[in-house]
Amino acid sequence: MPVKFTSYNDVRPEVASFESYEPGLSIAEIAEKYGLERVIKMASNENALGVSPAVSEAILSNAGNAFRYPQSGNPRLVKAIGAFYGVDPKRIFIGNGSDEVIDLLFRVRCVPGVHNAVAFRPCFGLYPTQAKMAGVELRQVPLKEDFSFDFAALESVIDENTTLVIVTSPDNPSGRTASTEELADLARSLPPACLLVVDEAYIEFAGEGASLLPRLAEFPNVALMRTFSKVYGLAGLRIGYAILPQAIADYMWRVRLPFSLNILAEEAALAALKDVEFREKTVAMVEKGRAELSAALESMGCTVIPSRSNFIMFRPAAGGPGVKELHTGLLKKGIIIRALGGYHLPEWLRVSVGTEEENALFIEYARGILENGNA
Ligand SMILES: *Cc1c(COP(=O)(O)O)cnc(C)c1O
Repeated sequence: MPVKFTSYNDVRPEVASFESYEPGLSIAEIAEKYGLERVIKMASNENALGVSPAVSEAILSNAGNAFRYPQSGNPRLVKAIGAFYGVDPKRIFIGNGSDEVIDLLFRVRCVPGVHNAVAFRPCFGLYPTQAKMAGVELRQVPLKEDFSFDFAALESVIDENTTLVIVTSPDNPSGRTASTEELADLARSLPPACLLVVDEAYIEFAGEGASLLPRLAEFPNVALMRTFSKVYGLAGLRIGYAILPQAIADYMWRVRLPFSLNILAEEAALAALKDVEFREKTVAMVEKGRAELSAALESMGCTVIPSRSNFIMFRPAAGGPGVKELHTGLLKKGIIIRALGGYHLPEWLRVSVGTEEENALFIEYARGILENGNA
């Protein structure tokens, strides 16, 4: 049925199906509500070390250039990312966060009403919203009960009209990580028109050998998506990128809004890539904190999903205080973690790895609530 507009208030049906966004309380609002001096946010997988001093310096020293337009195509950063990975810069695409990369992938690789895209469920919230906005069917296949990837089920819904498959590895919110063999098998099984995109937002926390990056020459139908939001601590500056087949990268550059990466973000990213020390410090903090948090949560009787990321998904033991008690109890103490109702996982929570001190406070308060009902 063709859509007929009858009023100047009408919008595309895809747009009308979106719900309005309700932002959560800000850190300042939570502090005020519970009368807290300090609030620790362990809810959004941000880098607990904050911004690296070298990057702060780069932003400050370039502030005076904010009156200029960025150089379209971001050639300096493209070259730097290419060199960093030893990849042809013609394959690099950069966006305003991975968010923009994902949005454009649907719009560039899928014809609305003809092609479909495939992902697991639950998945990063942006895949379904941007697929919908692009008018593209997103087929979602449930993860296994233990949140591991069901690649056989994924392959069973892929057909000749599937042009995009997205796998998040390490996954969010579970932290589970696909093996390169599983990803390679999936890539080999795809029909010729299909591009496999691996969202590697957290790959730096997964240790060696978790990415197909060293084997990209073998798999021309694989794209990797990465971000400066996590290991580089720049979530607020919005810088994401992908290593794509060269032809797709070229088209993505043609249609991207010309200045979507702002001039200070570009300088920050260039400085961040060079800052080996900060990146290594971040990874070391996450590996140590993740082990401590996992062991502590297990000792409180929680079910913990093994994570190779900078967060941990867990479920409190049945019969004791549940998600709501723990989440609210921690908020009252000034610690924000993520309850996963929004991912349709009402029995589960996700905590981002913090600094050593933040992790210790989380463990102390969580233990108080779970073991003594001491909210
Ligand atoms: C955090 C995250 C990203 C990064 O998004 P940006 O837009 O680059 O901040 C991408 N994918 C997943 C699954 C994430 O959790």
